[in-house]
Parts: sequence; structure tokens; C-alpha cells
Amino acid sequence: MQNTPRQRQNGQRTTNGRQPANSSSRPNNGNRANNAYAGGQRSDLRRPRMTEEEYRAYQARQRAYAESRRREEQVEKMRQKQAKKKQRARDRQIFLGRLAVFGVVFAIIVLLVCGLIWILFNHTPDAVEETKITYTYGGAQVRKADFETAYENGVYYFCFNDLAAYLGMAETGSAAERRFLFKESAADDSDGTGEEEYVSFPTGENTAVVNGQEVHLDGTNKLVGEEVWISIDFISDVMENISLKTDKNTVSIAKIADPDNTDTSTLQYLDASFRLKSNEPLETVDEGSSYLPGQITGGEDGEEYTIEFVNDLSAYEEYMNPADRDSYLMLVNTKNTLTSSYEPTDLMDVAATASGRSMQTLREYPCKALEALLLEMASAGFTTMQVNSGFRTYNYQAILFETYTNNEMTADPNLSREQAEQIVLTYSTRPGTSEHQTGLAVDMATDASFSTDFQFSDEYEWLMENAWKFGFVLRFPADKTHLTTISFEPWHWRYVGRYHAKKIHDSGVCLEEYIAALSVE
Ligand SMILES: [Zn+2]
Repeated sequence: MQNTPRQRQNGQRTTNGRQPANSSSRPNNGNRANNAYAGGQRSDLRRPRMTEEEYRAYQARQRAYAESRRREEQVEKMRQKQAKKKQRARDRQIFLGRLAVFGVVFAIIVLLVCGLIWILFNHTPDAVEETKITYTYGGAQVRKADFETAYENGVYYFCFNDLAAYLGMAETGSAAERRFLFKESAADDSDGTGEEEYVSFPTGENTAVVNGQEVHLDGTNKLVGEEVWISIDFISDVMENISLKTDKNTVSIAKIADPDNTDTSTLQYLDASFRLKSNEPLETVDEGSSYLPGQITGGEDGEEYTIEFVNDLSAYEEYMNPADRDSYLMLVNTKNTLTSSYEPTDLMDVAATASGRSMQTLREYPCKALEALLLEMASAGFTTMQVNSGFRTYNYQAILFETYTNNEMTADPNLSREQAEQIVLTYSTRPGTSEHQTGLAVDMATDASFSTDFQFSDEYEWLMENAWKFGFVLRFPADKTHLTTISFEPWHWRYVGRYHAKKIHDSGVCLEEYIAALSVE
């Protein structure tokens, strides 16, 4: 069949009965519709046809609808996603919270278990013992005290009431100042001398008043309840005929047995008393002395010398240059030790003792020679010299050494006792090896410190030049530490008497070398 012009006209609109490729979904426009076209107008009337415009609008609506569905779905998806995210965050928070609680509980349990184990293994009754100090008087245990009471700032304390009970002293005074009297002395008052031996301790101060004289103590007087606690240097510095020993957490105090007692059936003790009896001033030169400045010529073995003093020191000459010239050459060091009972019998108070320190003592000869030295120094314009340490007991040195060692171990807990002692030995000595126990050595400087800076002072220069004239030598020179085993101590001077002091001064040897050379001769 050939296309009529009408058909051709229709065909222009419908592509000659063939549907457009994209119109397969067109509703009411199937083959039947095309057939209807071909067949005439009647089928068009029965099934209304969409115009092209309607169809486009329809398509646009469909597309808009689909688009809005898609958007809604997207929004919904996003909303669900966020809700899930929130839920996950909440879950994580809950989880972390539970984890934290569990961690804390676990840590507490671990700590408790560890603590229990530590207590089981370390906190034995022995460990409890070590935190206490035991006090014995005459061998009998009187008390145990906690470290809090018995030890403070490197200083050991003891209960003075215990000592008073042991020695039969009477206690009077107030809480502000406790006073203890020797009963026999009080009884002796009837003889009219008016002398009584007493000591009082102002609470909270580091002084004691002994027979009217103020004494400096290493620690502060403490009132613990009704008891008076005093630093232990009081016993070593002030008490006479009382022995003091400190040994690993034990403080032993005892009367000293009388060595002259011939009655072997009973033990006789020396009377305990205070070392300080009264202020006995040493000889001094009269202000208005008519003597001319002293001029001394001396020298043996052909060595002649002349010494000129500003002051007349003729009264001191015997002390500076003892007739018995070899009796003060005693050598004390780590190899040549003193026994714990060695104590000179001619100790005297040193007038130039630094204020704030307990009265220092030296043997008679060095004591007076030192006084002459200080007089000359004062005349040379050096008026601030002070004595920081003189004679020390074996026991005091023991306490010092123990205290220094403990301090080193506290400063560095990794140190063993032996290591700490090696450090202490560079600046202190073991008991029995200290020259201070001889009563022939003196520590002096322009202040209370033991500082090597003293070597830069004019006073030190003066001493290096003149100390030999008074019988003193620098005991631990900087260039002799390998021989003395003690580091340089510009403050430590040793009395040997002028004869030997001059030789040591002139030759530049130390005492170890000098005595070694003497024994060879
Ligand atoms: Zn010294």
C-alpha cells in the first residue's frame, strides 16, 4: 500500500506508524493506537490520547516526583546515618566510662594486694624495732622512744628526767624552764659555800644554763608531756664522769667506775657532775702593762731566730715553747688511733670559744699558747677570730661520724653504709682517729663555718706566717692530703710546741712526714 498524501501527513506526525524509540512507555499509544490512526478517528475517541505537551508535563511531573522521592530517601538515609553515629558515640562513652571505673577498681585491688604483700614480707616485728631508739642507764634499759621524739635534724635527743633519776638529781622549775639540781650539792649548801650544781633548760631554746653559764646545744630543748628532752651533746660536752655510747639505735649512758678503787668487792663510781664549774678567766696581759714588746731569741741546733711580739707575752713563753719540748708530738690519724677512754686530764676552757657554741676546751699548754696567739692577732687588727672546736670526746666523735654517715645516706639513698662512710672520711674521722680527742687541735676561723674560703683571708695569711711562733702548725695542708688522708682544712691548727712547729713550718712537711723523719734519726 502506497502512502497517501494524508497518510504522509499523518506519517510526518507519527513517523509513518512506527513509534519513536523513546515512546514505548507512552500510555494509550500502543500499536493499537497506531492502528487506530491507521484505521480512522473512532479509536481516538474511545481512548483519549495525550498531546505531546501533556505527555511532556506528565513526564516532568514523574521526574519531579521521582526526584522528590529520591531526596526524601536521601534525607531519611542521612537521618538514620546520624542517628546511628550518635548511638555509636553514646555506646563509646558508656564503654569508656565502664573501662575507667574498671581501671580504678583494678588499680585499687592491685595496690591493696601489693600493700598486703609488702606488709607480710617487710613489716616484720624487727622493722618496727628499727624505728625506735633504746636508752640504757648503767646497762639497764630504761625506755624505748620513737624516732620522732629521739631524733631531729641529725641530732639525737635523750630524756633528761631519765638522767636525773639515774644520778639522783632533783627537779624544779616551770614548764618554761626546767631546772635540775644535784641533791648532794644542795645538801652541801649547809657548809656555807653557797655552791650548788644545777642546770636549767629554757624550753624551745638551744641553750642550757649550767652553774650560771650559758651553754649552746646542738638541738632545741623540747617538752614532751612532762618530760624534758635535750640534745645528746649535752652529755658529751657538759657532763663529767658520765660515759655516752651510741650504737645503731641504742644510746647507752653510764657512770664511770673509779679506777682507783681498791675494794674489789664493790664497784665504786666517780661522782657525776657538770664540767663547767665557774668562769675562770685565763691569764691575760694587763692593759697598762709597762713591759716592752717581747723579743725572744731562740733556736737550737745552730739555728738562731728572733721573734718580736707586739704584746709582752713573757707570761706565755713557757706555754708557747714548752721546756718538755717532745711531749706534744702525739700523732693521731687513721693508723694511729686513740682508745675510747683516752681523755687528757688538763683540759681548760678556751676563752675565745665562738658565741653560740658550748665552751670548748684544750689542754693547758695549747690553751694558753692559743690565747697568746689570739692576743697578737688582735693587735695586728684581726679581732674576729673565734674557736669553733677544741677537744672532742671519743663518744662525741662517734656521734658526729654516725650523724654525718646517716646524713649522707639520707641525701643519697642508693649509698651503702660503707660508701657513705668513705664520703664522710674525706671531711671527718672515725672515733679514735680524730686529733681533737688529744686536746691539742683547734678549729678556728673568722666565722662559725668550716669553709676552705678561709684560706683567702688575711687572717689565714697571718697564721701561715706566724702560728709556729706560738707552737701551732697547719695540720692538713692542701698539698699533703695523700699523706694525711684528710682534705685541706685551713681552719684546723695543731699544737706541737714552738721547737717542732718551727721545723715543720720551715721545711713545709706535714706532721706524718715530720714524725716519720724523727723516728729514722
Ligand atoms: Zn679540726
